[in-house]
Amino acid sequence: MARGFWSWYEKFNSVVRTFTGPAQLGAGHPEAPDIRRADAACPICGRPMTEHVVERSADQRTASRLVCPAPRAA
Ligand SMILES: [Zn+2]
Repeated sequence: MARGFWSWYEKFNSVVRTFTGPAQLGAGHPEAPDIRRADAACPICGRPMTEHVVERSADQRTASRLVCPAPRAA
């Protein structure tokens, strides 16, 4: 039963691929390495990311935390 279904599935896919073509991979344009600046602004507070502290937990159950620096006194 399962073998019959698989051969039907393979035939069905070979017919479908005649008009869809193979799977499309990539972003659709030339891609380059994603180079990010170290002093990029934090999306939360706007301060440079180099002023932040990342708290990484010892176990895998607790998520990492990003600690924003204290706001500047106005
Ligand atoms: Zn921040």
